[in-house]
Amino acid sequence: MDTFNNFLPLLPQLGIGVANLAAAFLFLYGLHRMASPVTAPSGIFVAGIGMTVAVLASFLYAFDVSAAARPNLPVNLGLVVLALVTGSGVAWWAGRTVAMTAMPQMVAIYNGLGGGAAGAIAAVELFGAKAVGMSAMIVTLAGALIGAVSMSGSLIAWAKLDGVIKQPLRFKGQQLFNGVVLLATVVCGVYLVLATQNQSMLVLALPTSIYLFFAFALALGIFMTLPIGGADMPVVISIFNAFTGLAVGLEGFVLQNPALMIAGMVVGAAGMLLTLLMAKAMNRSVANVVFTNFGEVKKQKQGAIQGSLKPMQPGDAGIAMRYASSVIIVPGYGLAVAQGQGKLYEFVKLLQSGGVDVKFAVHPVAGRMPGQMDVLLAEAGVPYDLIFQLEDINDQFATTDVALVIGANDVVNPAARTDKSSPIYGMPILNADQAKKVLVVKRGEGKGYAGIVNALFYGDNCDMVYGDAQAVLIKMIEAVRGLGLPAVVKKTK
Ligand code: NDP
Repeated sequence: MDTFNNFLPLLPQLGIGVANLAAAFLFLYGLHRMASPVTAPSGIFVAGIGMTVAVLASFLYAFDVSAAARPNLPVNLGLVVLALVTGSGVAWWAGRTVAMTAMPQMVAIYNGLGGGAAGAIAAVELFGAKAVGMSAMIVTLAGALIGAVSMSGSLIAWAKLDGVIKQPLRFKGQQLFNGVVLLATVVCGVYLVLATQNQSMLVLALPTSIYLFFAFALALGIFMTLPIGGADMPVVISIFNAFTGLAVGLEGFVLQNPALMIAGMVVGAAGMLLTLLMAKAMNRSVANVVFTNFGEVKKQKQGAIQGSLKPMQPGDAGIAMRYASSVIIVPGYGLAVAQGQGKLYEFVKLLQSGGVDVKFAVHPVAGRMPGQMDVLLAEAGVPYDLIFQLEDINDQFATTDVALVIGANDVVNPAARTDKSSPIYGMPILNADQAKKVLVVKRGEGKGYAGIVNALFYGDNCDMVYGDAQAVLIKMIEAVRGLGLPAVVKKTK
């Protein structure tokens, strides 16, 4: 009985430990399932359960451990619940109503909020703690710096993606200026670390230095992101994602909160891996993106493009594909804008019933966020075995009858191969130009995200099918149905 009574007070601690372990397992298992489009939805669900368990564990932690260890700290249940209900409610509503094309903006803003939350935790620690050890102080400040940079940088990324900021802001000596802002932040941080070791310095130094530290860190995030051009945006969002994870992990370490540590490190590691993969997809090193090309403007030689744009009617284009034996479809951002994925798959089924071999080629940075095209096609019910990534299909364009480029532009721009002055030079592209015939569906002469002309559209083997992607597909479907051809029945052995 005595043993049981001694054990009883340890139960909450044990519960928190087990819950944190369960949350960590669920995060990792969920992440593992996200590796394939087939298992990704259940992976997201599992990780969501992990997050719920982590929140509950943090709740228990706040009311058991912190109340006991820090009796002077008021634990306000009402405010905590209000924050949880408001945050969950807004996220639920936003997640249900956001348009597919606005997802990158949403990712950017949520990422910024995550960085801001890590920064806010650090601020509470800095303002609240009278004197902490030097190493804890350094970790807190590192988390605060990374979190604040991620927050302000992500907000600028949101503004750029949403069209609020239309042009990159660049000025002479920008990188030196950013270096000075970083140095000022570090100086404030060092001063704070020294001040915590000297009580007499502390009272005077603390509030002003903390305010200055955060002001410089936030400014750094803004000035780092303002000069970035469109083509670098995917890598930058991914870097800030990794930053936020790292900041949350560091603050979790300071608070000794395992759920924060694990969630932060998982996000940080995943963000960093995604950054490396994205950089590879654009044929750039991360250091090159971060240090070299921020703020670099390159002018494209417009005169170098020869040939003319040749319009084709949607019906004629549809019929041409019905009589082809192989078609590779390259979807891009415009398909998401037009919400044409459903009609596209209807058209594909029509071609398949006529015996045409149809495949989808997905570029890693097609659309406005990693994986956007995979999600779009999955939403329409396109079977995964029809969808191929760049490296798996690029060799097949040369032996394909028709490449249908629908709402895509930068990801098929041959300038990436040949024009050293192009901002996308070096980015691997889909070899649509090598197909026997290229059909491009777009509304007019609008440029892609990188804002450059595409020589593919002027090629001898290319015809332009002008119109909104969904409207064009409807006309293609009508034209092919109008042929009244019987379906080809595939022979089975
Ligand atoms: P692009 O942005 O290069 O081109 C999209 C094309 O779609 C435009 O040329 C536009 O031409 C056309 N379009 C727009 N609306 C419609 C519509 N309703 N119907 C038909 N066509 C339409 O897209 P890509 O997918 O080829 O390339 C992605 C670009 O975005 C890359 O530069 C990438 O670096 C960048 N990026 C990618 C991110 C990611 O993570 N995937 C994140 C941020 C940026 P028109 O106006 O004439 O119709």
